[in-house]
Amino acid sequence: MRMSRYFLPILKETPAEAQIVSHRLMLRAGMIRQAAAGIYSWLPLGFKVLRRLEDIVHQEQIRAGHNPMLMPTLQSADLWRESGRYDDYGEEMLRIKDRHGRDLLYGPTNEELITDIFRNNVHSYKDLPLTLYHIQWKFRDEIRPRFGVMRGREFFMKDGYNFDVDKPSAIQAYNRHMVSYLRTYERMGLKAIPMRAASGPIGGDNTHEFLVLADTGESEVFYDSAILDLKLGDRTVDYDDWGQCESIVTEWTTPYARTDETHDQAVFENVPEERRKTSRGIEVGQIFYFGTKYSDAMNAKVVTQDGDRVPVHMGSHGIGVSRLVGAIIEASHDDNGIIWPEAVAPFRVGIVNLKQGDEEADGACDGLYKAAMALGLDPLYDDRSERAGAKFATMDLIGLPWRITVGPRGLKNGVVELTCRKTGESEELTPELALQRLSEIYAGI
Ligand code: ATP
Ligand code: MG
Repeated sequence: MRMSRYFLPILKETPAEAQIVSHRLMLRAGMIRQAAAGIYSWLPLGFKVLRRLEDIVHQEQIRAGHNPMLMPTLQSADLWRESGRYDDYGEEMLRIKDRHGRDLLYGPTNEELITDIFRNNVHSYKDLPLTLYHIQWKFRDEIRPRFGVMRGREFFMKDGYNFDVDKPSAIQAYNRHMVSYLRTYERMGLKAIPMRAASGPIGGDNTHEFLVLADTGESEVFYDSAILDLKLGDRTVDYDDWGQCESIVTEWTTPYARTDETHDQAVFENVPEERRKTSRGIEVGQIFYFGTKYSDAMNAKVVTQDGDRVPVHMGSHGIGVSRLVGAIIEASHDDNGIIWPEAVAPFRVGIVNLKQGDEEADGACDGLYKAAMALGLDPLYDDRSERAGAKFATMDLIGLPWRITVGPRGLKNGVVELTCRKTGESEELTPELALQRLSEIYAGI
């Protein structure tokens, strides 16, 4: 993309309404604009990051054997009356009447709709295990939407639902989800810690939340710092291997890690003092096993191998995709702007032309731009007639992990400058080597 054709409405001033750094930077970098309280338009740069996160979520869910699908944002109230949640959900549910006077709602989550789809189509243990998921906009009429996309009213969420014949297989689905979530966050360049959580209105006792540590997080968290050293890395995971999934879950759930809702000071004190940490955290996902809560209420049964008809065991699993955009910025920024982890960066490299209009510099930049595109490096080329300082400030603000700077002085020696956004370190290289270096870096991502 050429900057001269890109819609990137950068703000010079710090917006007064934004209380936390990710919200300020998302507004300043032209990623989002508020449409109404807690409801945002995603401008091209923000949309690109959202899509990158969505792609990673899909890839990791499909790798775990889960089925992507898409359910609507609007749902009929009747299904929610069946489960009893139409009345229980309260003010957070946005209720709508259509022209025929029928009650609809903008879905805050999808247990009822998916259970309805399941009961109408699946009747036998032979079709299990089954996990269905979608990534769709949700609406919760939060009393105090704030912090930009972190606590919106409309937000983008991955929600998945497992259906299993009995509790042990449903627990395997739970473990599989935990492992797939760990992989998902790790690929995004994030450390998200699974913490034992309280279940709330969805019901069930087996639940973990995934929290990213950040001072601006809304939850208070208590953890053993040993958990920060755990990494899946490039180990191969076989999602059909129950034992492997269980042992990964054990590895991650053995060190103490709880939110204030489940915190137990006496147990916490068994952790060696120097490893006992208290902090704030942002909830970026949650997994639940809730047994037959919805299948009982909605009569979703399967025939077992022995010929009995039993209610199916279920769990639900969510990732806050739009919240993650803010959470990643909270975890990765400096005074000059955002620092995107390579896997989620909106563009992989920025090209800065120090002397737009100079024939040689323009030619070199054009060549680099085309070559970078051909290599799949998705470059953003700042081809505007701005001063160098302004171009650098824009690149720093929008946080692309790498920048190639092209100027007449370097070109005399046949070199350009490759700069890392995170470390600020620069290196002079030929344009070919600079691109080769980037291809190598991104090959592993
Ligand atoms: P919270 O406790 O933050 O209100 P929740 O526990 O009600 O969230 P879940 O039902 O677990 O939310 O939804 C799954 C994920 O969706 C959450 O882990 C979070 O990342 C995201 N999410 C929930 N509510 C919002 C919101 N209002 N704005 C943005 N993301 C949200
Ligand atoms: Mg939650």
